[in-house]
Formats: sequence, C-alpha cells, structure tokens
Amino acid sequence: MALTLFSRTRTAIEPEHAPQPWPEIGETWKPEGVVVTQRFLGLAGAVVLVYTADTGANGTYYSVACLGCHFASAEDRQRTYNRRYSLADAAKVANEHATTCRALPRDLPARPDDDTAREQLHAWVRRARRNTEDVQLWPSDLDLIRLTLQRTNDWIVGVFQQLAVDQPEALRIERSQYTDHAFVSYYARRLPQD
Ligand SMILES: [Zn+2]
Repeated sequence: MALTLFSRTRTAIEPEHAPQPWPEIGETWKPEGVVVTQRFLGLAGAVVLVYTADTGANGTYYSVACLGCHFASAEDRQRTYNRRYSLADAAKVANEHATTCRALPRDLPARPDDDTAREQLHAWVRRARRNTEDVQLWPSDLDLIRLTLQRTNDWIVGVFQQLAVDQPEALRIERSQYTDHAFVSYYARRLPQD
C-alpha cells in the first residue's frame, strides 16, 4: 500500500515538473568561458551548476549557481582567509542548495552579443572607480556573472586591453615579471577631481 501511495504521488508531481533528461550534448550546457564540473538536481528540477573559470595557473577555484533561482556563490564569507571554494566546498554548497531549492528548471540565459558583453565589462570597471585612489580589479570577481557573460578568459582580457588603450583615464594595466612568469594587474583609475 505504501508503495502504491508513493507511486501515485510521484505520478501526480511528474507531468509538469519532471526533471528533463540530462542534455549531455546540448550547447546550453557548455557555457563559453567556464568548465562545468558537476550538476545537482533541485527538488522541482532546477539544475545547480558547479563550475570554474580558472585555467589552473594560480590554483583552481569553483563557483556555484542555480539555474532555477538567483542563488549564486563563489566564496564562504564565514571564513577569515582563503574564502574561495575548492571543488569539494563547491559541491557541498551546491548539494545543500539543491536539497532545499523548489525552483522550476530554466535554461542558461541566452548568450549576449559582443556589444552587450563588452558593456557589461566596461560597466564593471566604471563601478569600481573611486574618488580617492586607483582600485585594483580582480578578474576572478567576475566569476559569478560568467554564466551570463559567456565569454572566454582571452576575450575578457582583450576587452580590458582595448579599454586601457581607448580610455586610459578609466583603466590601467600593469605588467610585472617574476622569474619566468608574467603577472598582469588591472586598476580602475581614480575618478577626476574638480
Ligand atoms: Zn535554486
């Protein structure tokens, strides 16, 4: 009898909210610029992604985003140091979210055109500018919007390089060389004083 009840409950839920089969080769599951390493299924079928935008050169950190609701997380704010997620950290956060999230499934957001993506990055630089000093920008801070940006690291670097040429008053780039490794730092320039 219990089995029958269980089956009927399942049947009642499934027609509208049934999780779709994993679209293993669907383009929408391979957002440009990130590597999706794990996926969790929420209570009503929304997919929670664990992904990274790192190349591994300076360590690999992971982010979590739910495609059904607005949950997104790239660090543990309770920690006092090394807040970024390892793969195990991210998987734990994603699993915890999936076990409580009742959002319905949605696809990835549509990939924006180049002008829109470029403007997103320009706006990010503009927002960082302060009256008092140049502010260092960390491209890893973009991790949380990488699923809407959908661009490669190289493309993003290209946009910053062009912006530094076109608007040197807004962005400057510093290059330094340690042994055989080159480091690039980005700074949002101090706002003009009048
Ligand atoms: Zn969610």
